[in-house]
Amino acid sequence: MISLYPPNTPFPVYQQKYWWSDKWDPLSYGKEINWNEPFLKQIQELRNRTPRMNLIGLHQTLENSEYVNMAHNLKNCYLIFNSDYNENCLYGSEIESSKDCIDNLMIDSCTLCYECINCNKCYKTFFSEDCNECNDVYFSKDCIGCNNCFGCVNLRKKSHHIFNKPYTREEYEARIKEYNLSSRASLRGWQKKTQDFWETKGKYKHFHGLQNDDVSGDYINNSKNIHNCFIVRGSKNCKYCMWLIVGNNEDCYDYAQFGQNTELMYEVMQAGYQTSNVKFSYLVAAMSSSIEYSDSVYGSSNCFGCSNLRDKEYCILNKQYSKEEYNEFIPKIKKHMNEKPYVDKKGRVYKYGEFFPIELSVIPYNQSSAQDFYPLSEKDAEEKGYSWSEIKLTEHEISLSFDKIPDTIDKTDDTIIKEVIACRESGKAFRIVPDELRLHRVFNLPLPDCLPEVRQKRRIGRRNKPVLYNRACAKCGKGIQTSYASERPEVVYCEQCYNAEVV
Ligand SMILES: [Zn+2]
Repeated sequence: MISLYPPNTPFPVYQQKYWWSDKWDPLSYGKEINWNEPFLKQIQELRNRTPRMNLIGLHQTLENSEYVNMAHNLKNCYLIFNSDYNENCLYGSEIESSKDCIDNLMIDSCTLCYECINCNKCYKTFFSEDCNECNDVYFSKDCIGCNNCFGCVNLRKKSHHIFNKPYTREEYEARIKEYNLSSRASLRGWQKKTQDFWETKGKYKHFHGLQNDDVSGDYINNSKNIHNCFIVRGSKNCKYCMWLIVGNNEDCYDYAQFGQNTELMYEVMQAGYQTSNVKFSYLVAAMSSSIEYSDSVYGSSNCFGCSNLRDKEYCILNKQYSKEEYNEFIPKIKKHMNEKPYVDKKGRVYKYGEFFPIELSVIPYNQSSAQDFYPLSEKDAEEKGYSWSEIKLTEHEISLSFDKIPDTIDKTDDTIIKEVIACRESGKAFRIVPDELRLHRVFNLPLPDCLPEVRQKRRIGRRNKPVLYNRACAKCGKGIQTSYASERPEVVYCEQCYNAEVV
């Protein structure tokens, strides 16, 4: 099977479907509390014995979508991550409520989109960024309500524009035909030209997001009183949160990834779906509540120090207690955690109130999303006490070089799905899947000549990192906080100056 965990991990790994079945009993791993050992050490011992799912997801809601991770409610999806409520979507991450989309990052409610970053409610939008409610748009950035536009930036409700200039419908169509957008070689040239145009002619608001009230951070939509947060939708009263990609989250702090009707989450990673009052935990979802110091707990309530548990209540270290016993033990455990805290290899002390020590992370640093934002070398990671594991790729015999993939989709025949293709950038092997071929024919766009990971890395490279810099507005000089680093070439405006010129 494939798994997000490397083969040398200490814990057993089960297929997702088996993990969710009644064929094994999480309580059979239960253990008494040992008052002579730090409690976190006992949790770690339990985590090392309990089986994990090979890929994280709500198996019951995945239809013909075997190769996805951190996902639920998908139909016919392939290699998408951190994504939910999609149909026929392939490659990329943070894809929500979309249909027939390939190779995107952070899109919501989109249809037939390809190579888009941070786009919402778009239809047939290609190679575009930060666009909303656009149709038939190519290579455009920060456009809202536009249709039939090419290489535009900062446009509102315009149609038939090329490089921000208006054309008649006939002129527009003739030019687009001339641009030969079905050819890979030609697209590559346009990508460079249009991105240069955005950079030199675009006005950049210091912040990405719409319909907010009193927010700071970046990539925030439809939210209120959200501060120092990144990639948050439809939430209120949160601070230091990231990737709350499904909305309706309230009163959360230090919480990363997922969301969907959550409240009172504190120091939590990868949790959501009608879940509340969770602290110092990793992977808690599916109508769970009042959980602390737990890992991979679903549909449960009132659990402390549990690992890989479903549909239980009043458990400590996967052992069942009565409500009364449980309520008696919890204050004692917290006191014990403060009196006999966990000390990591670097001498760092973890008392009650701290998240799990990073040295206990089940994901090696270099394979985690942290590496995308704060890249470290193996040596640096080791010095900080973070784990590291190289992925050993299977060797494949290449049957087609990247330069032999036809330049246009109409010259590409069905046999391409049998080929093992060498990636243009990495030389590593990749394949084209049937749905990909089918959708590229609908897009009338050539097939990619690079690995899915290479494509995803390129998109991540174009998204601003979750870091705020103090800069001055390029127009009025007022101080702004922005994720555009000072050395970047874009002209960055405060909201007022941006609204005066653009909206
Ligand atoms: Zn200004």
